[in-house]
Amino acid sequence: MAELVQVTDKVHLAQGHAVNWVLVTDESGVMLIDAGYPGDRAEVLASLRQLGHQPADVRAILLTHAHIDHLGSAIWFASEHGTPVYCHAEEVGHAKREYLEQASILDVALRIWRPRWAVWGAHVVRSGGLIRDGIPTAQPLTNETAAGLPGHPMPVFTPGHTGGHCSYLVDGVLASGDALITGHPLLRHRGPQLLPEVFSHSQQNCIRSLSALALLETEILAPGHGDLWRGRIREATEAAASLAIGR
Ligand SMILES: [Zn+2]
Repeated sequence: MAELVQVTDKVHLAQGHAVNWVLVTDESGVMLIDAGYPGDRAEVLASLRQLGHQPADVRAILLTHAHIDHLGSAIWFASEHGTPVYCHAEEVGHAKREYLEQASILDVALRIWRPRWAVWGAHVVRSGGLIRDGIPTAQPLTNETAAGLPGHPMPVFTPGHTGGHCSYLVDGVLASGDALITGHPLLRHRGPQLLPEVFSHSQQNCIRSLSALALLETEILAPGHGDLWRGRIREATEAAASLAIGR
């Protein structure tokens, strides 16, 4: 069962076994930012129920990026409920699976030799991490659409982890996806950091995107992996940058 952490009146962070998603509610319904692995669907539905919502109440799903652990249950929402799925214009082709920008389990195993990769790899397989389906109806998020969604999310383009990765500032909370994380089943270090290079399309652009996040007015970080983090966002981005450069 995913742990649901209340962040503000409108924003909750759901922490699944290996990935997080964010729920944003208002009187018009609920919006998801990311949607777990395909196998996390029951947990996504349970997190909605905990806030009094049905799948049909989901007005939109915003994707930070189209990796399977963030897009997973959105495949089902889009096909079964016609839920609109939005991402950055540069990520739409990825969400449709016109191409795939994701490390394989083997890539990871070869580069990060640690006993925990096997446990993680088994979890990925069990959770439908090898599914190659995309979302044919994925669309670019426009400013007009964003303005009408719960919490009025403001997209912050943060390419690097994927070519079209986008973070969202919503109700004062930074939903950073994988542009800035605070923990991962494969990593021992806790606290603000980047994912290891093997997971990302361009680590150099990941580091560059940290500078974009550093400019935001927020003191609450809801990452794609790891725990909620509170503090000056610049402290988080600087910690992540120096760890990445030192690695
Ligand atoms: Zn990712």
